[in-house]
Amino acid sequence: MPIYEYACPTCDKTFEAFILRRSDEGEVACPGCSSRSVSRVMSRPAALRGGGGGDTGSAGPSCGPVG
Ligand SMILES: [Zn+2]
Repeated sequence: MPIYEYACPTCDKTFEAFILRRSDEGEVACPGCSSRSVSRVMSRPAALRGGGGGDTGSAGPSCGPVG
């Protein structure tokens, strides 16, 4: 889904917004202060495939009884 993360410098808040079109980027407003001067944050850990770079923190399935 075309969900982008935005950051509002006015109230220092981050939020996500649906961006279906390029023109929608100009209509993104902060849900906190309704400010239009928000900046997009490019730090989505989701869907990292063949991008280069990335931390592997999740191990495989647990083997053996735990607990
Ligand atoms: Zn704001």
